[in-house]
Amino acid sequence: MEKGFISVQAENIFPIIKQFLYSDREVFLRELVANAVDATTKLQTLARKGEFKGTLGDVTIDILIDKKQGTLTIRDSGIGMTREEVEKYLNQVAFSSAQEFLQKYKEDAQIIGHFGLGFYSAFMVADKVEVITKSWQADAQAVIWTCEGNPEYTIDYTDRRSERGTDVVLYISEDSKEFLEESRIQALLDKYCRFLPVPIRFGKRKETVTEEGKDGKKKTKVVEVDNIINKPAIWRKSPSSLKDEDYLALYEALYPYSEQPMFWVHLNIDYPFHLTGVLYFPKLGNALEIQRNKIQLYSNYMFVTDNVKEIVPEFLTLLHGVIDSPDIPLNVSRSYLQSDSNVRKIASYITRKVAERLNDLFKKDRKGFEQKWDDLGIFIKYGMISDDKFYEKALKFALLKNVDGDYFTIEAYKEKVKAQQTNKDKKIVLLYTNDPVSHDGYVKAAKARGYDVLVMDMVIDNHFMQHLEYKMDDLTFARIDADTLDHLIDKGEGQDSVLSEEEKKQVEAIFKEVAKESDGATVVLKALSVEALPVQITRPEFLRRMREMQMVSGVQQSDMPDFFNVVVNTNHPLIAKTLLSQDAAQRRGLARYLYHLALLQNGMLKGESLTTFVQERLRTLAEAADAS
Ligand code: ADP
Repeated sequence: MEKGFISVQAENIFPIIKQFLYSDREVFLRELVANAVDATTKLQTLARKGEFKGTLGDVTIDILIDKKQGTLTIRDSGIGMTREEVEKYLNQVAFSSAQEFLQKYKEDAQIIGHFGLGFYSAFMVADKVEVITKSWQADAQAVIWTCEGNPEYTIDYTDRRSERGTDVVLYISEDSKEFLEESRIQALLDKYCRFLPVPIRFGKRKETVTEEGKDGKKKTKVVEVDNIINKPAIWRKSPSSLKDEDYLALYEALYPYSEQPMFWVHLNIDYPFHLTGVLYFPKLGNALEIQRNKIQLYSNYMFVTDNVKEIVPEFLTLLHGVIDSPDIPLNVSRSYLQSDSNVRKIASYITRKVAERLNDLFKKDRKGFEQKWDDLGIFIKYGMISDDKFYEKALKFALLKNVDGDYFTIEAYKEKVKAQQTNKDKKIVLLYTNDPVSHDGYVKAAKARGYDVLVMDMVIDNHFMQHLEYKMDDLTFARIDADTLDHLIDKGEGQDSVLSEEEKKQVEAIFKEVAKESDGATVVLKALSVEALPVQITRPEFLRRMREMQMVSGVQQSDMPDFFNVVVNTNHPLIAKTLLSQDAAQRRGLARYLYHLALLQNGMLKGESLTTFVQERLRTLAEAADAS
């Protein structure tokens, strides 16, 4: 046996390995399994080239727990190492790269994925590590290397291994006993190693199988099978070789028990960087809620992180799926990632692919696209607001829906309503409702005039409309209750009032008196057509949007009151004739009645006012019945 010292330059790094990386200790397993996979694929390459002439045999990597010994073993049948190679790779290469990694880590602890510590990460969880290895080369002898978490190591020949390959045996330390628990290791393997290209086995598991007995009856029985961790990493395959089931199976593997996605886009690029992946479009509905199913980032099949914020544009994080790229720098800081030009190229590539996929779908199956709009719209609108390039592309397929359930692209819709709905400032006014049921009266009135009304009921719609107004200077949005119809689409053809100035003052005074009962009400007199309602409630577009945006952006309760206008139509016969011909008490009664009807139509008559309103109406009916 030979003893030696790993050449330590400045300080003993073992205590630092233990302390510094405490919170991420679990990555040791990823590092060691990655080494085992490397050793295996290297051998497969040698075999392909004809340099290795023996039989490959079963190359499954085993993860073994021995509770009695207190060890966790990672066993591969890869290339193994000769005595010289152990000296070189473990004592020099691995050790100095660990040192370098720790240096970087100390400078910037915010590293994504924490790749790079390699073999020596074993000492985060082990007091002692044994490497028992036998090289693939014909006359190689097995070697055992032992190190107890200090720069001292021993190396010797051994007969503990007769077959090619490597065992890395970790004597798990007292404070890391969790890594001797099956459930913990299973979870870690599931997290990091599921898609690796070499089979990973973790003991046995029970499986229920159904088989036909001699009597022809089906019987179920429980059998023990190898517990293989791997699932197919289909994103590296060519899309033409894959079926829908394959994509759905990957989705199920990534997000068990989730609702099926609507469709997906397969990413595959070789230049100027390597990237493969599958992004799924989930059914988003109306909510911009935090996504539970996050996009997972892999590097050569190995899970790195599900925090991909810096790599994909934020709106794309609404999607689910996998991105695999060996070219994304993994062990650098986030601020660096954001400014890295490769990363930015990746982001714009993904954005482009996603837009192309949507455009394809729109062109090939417009009906299907429309049916999915309710679950897709929020994503597309969010993308259009936050990414100019996506905006340009999405103009081709972003849809507007009207109250009749018809869908239009934005340009097509502008064409449709232009003739009727252009105002005196040459802007096309797009009328919309966020709630067709509550706005039924307004919608009917607008349609009676030949106007069209859009439904804009998504959480994101206020922002979206604002964005379109900013991008297109020939259009403006107005909610159907923002003003009276004459003024919503002001064509500059106002009506004359039939009332004198003196009469107007009287009418205004009466309504100001009755509207006092509501906070935020402003009485406005307008000379409208005789068919328009005598009194209606309107909510000025600008104030209302400000208030709503305040509420969406976190401020639960807006500090702005709910302002609204009480528009009195001075040309309506009930105002122009009836009201003014009555005595003071009757006037107030009629004005209140009309005001309450307007509130009622908007669901704004509540509490005591509503009770009184109903009681008064019942009393009037009873009196009328008595009188007849
Ligand atoms: P890296 O894998 O990044 O090169 P490591 O510290 O993990 O660094 O490993 C150092 C070297 O040790 C590897 O490059 C490899 O040559 C050798 N090695 C580690 N594990 C194994 C293994 N299971 N089989 C064969 N060689 C290995």
